[in-house]
Amino acid sequence: MTVSTLTPPSVQCPECGGHSIVEYKPTVYRCLKCDFEKDLSVPPEPSGAGLGSAIMGLAGFGLVLLILL
Ligand SMILES: [Zn+2]
Repeated sequence: MTVSTLTPPSVQCPECGGHSIVEYKPTVYRCLKCDFEKDLSVPPEPSGAGLGSAIMGLAGFGLVLLILL
């Protein structure tokens, strides 16, 4: 693996690993190599929701087990 010291540490593309990420729009970053696009204006799914549903699913599973046993 060769590490280029000429390339300044910048945003690395998660798709192709290239440092070709440009600010396409104020909130959108785009890779020039593989057309990877990341829209930062879209909020990521709240982690609490996923965890909550997982716990609810687990609780429901436990409840079914209790009923069956
Ligand atoms: Zn890329």
